[in-house]
Amino acid sequence: MNKRTLRIAWMMILFSFLLLAVPAGAQNLTGSPQVSQSDLTAKFKNAAAKTKVPWFYIAAVYQYESRLKWKTRSNPGQTNFQFSSDKWCGSLNPNQQDRHEGTVRLYGGIGRDGNRDGIADPQSEDDVLFAIGSFLQSNGSTEDDIRITLWNMYQESMIVERITGFARIYYQFGTTALEGNSFPIPKRYNYTYRSTWGDRRGWGGRRIHEGTDIFADYGTPVVATSYGFVELKGWNDYGGWRIGIRDLNNVYHYFAHLSRFEKGLQLRSIVVPGQVIGYVGSSGYGKPGTSGKFAPHLHYGMYRDTGRTEYAFDPTPYLRRWEIQAKKKKAR
Ligand SMILES: [Zn+2]
Repeated sequence: MNKRTLRIAWMMILFSFLLLAVPAGAQNLTGSPQVSQSDLTAKFKNAAAKTKVPWFYIAAVYQYESRLKWKTRSNPGQTNFQFSSDKWCGSLNPNQQDRHEGTVRLYGGIGRDGNRDGIADPQSEDDVLFAIGSFLQSNGSTEDDIRITLWNMYQESMIVERITGFARIYYQFGTTALEGNSFPIPKRYNYTYRSTWGDRRGWGGRRIHEGTDIFADYGTPVVATSYGFVELKGWNDYGGWRIGIRDLNNVYHYFAHLSRFEKGLQLRSIVVPGQVIGYVGSSGYGKPGTSGKFAPHLHYGMYRDTGRTEYAFDPTPYLRRWEIQAKKKKAR
């Protein structure tokens, strides 16, 4: 072996080590901006062991809170969200920076010192997970009990539904490491699309087009694009037969103008990427049953939730990414 081949061999070894060293999250090219939480399942289970609350509810509240803001990364051991100081310390607590569990408890704050370092730190993962668990068990630990507690905390039934939905998904798969997306039309079918974000729409008054139209033959299967659950299903005058899926990043995926739904799919049904949910059609723009007012296509929309409002964002870049991923799979 001469010097040059030796050098190349060394470089290849070094390079493969570098590849291995890149954390999984950094290679994550899935749909919505997200933090890889694969490593957190054990922490959720650990926090659950200290309370009487099933781990998947702790995971669901943690996930809901951390997705309200779209921060992508935090330091290891630190949360990427923080409960408001009145929630953490207690709204009547004169010290809204209180980090002492004793006084926080006294004022009804949820703050806890999970890792026993003497500080109830609202940014420490251990403390926050233990705090969530302790709070969730305050009315008992059955699903109904926990829903009541969630209601007390958020005072909003949609939020209770979402958190309960996340919990069911985590329970079903036994982990929070649920990543991956699919393009909404399986790759073996013909389709075309281009970015139609913001185009003007005629029907139903002046509206801006909030989504991407994917043109395909009538009856082409439509699949779920992410892990999630069915939040809405039925008729709406604009979208016709439509399905709304809430994913684990708290993004709402809107599939409209379907000709029909997949059999067996119901409200709250859990879906996985690539699972058939319905079929392309041209329903909508009128009373229930109206169809054929435009060429068959899937209208696909994505909506982000801030806890107070929901707003649409352009799905096209995500669609392109998922499409490329689907093609790569084929090459393997
Ligand atoms: Zn559309």
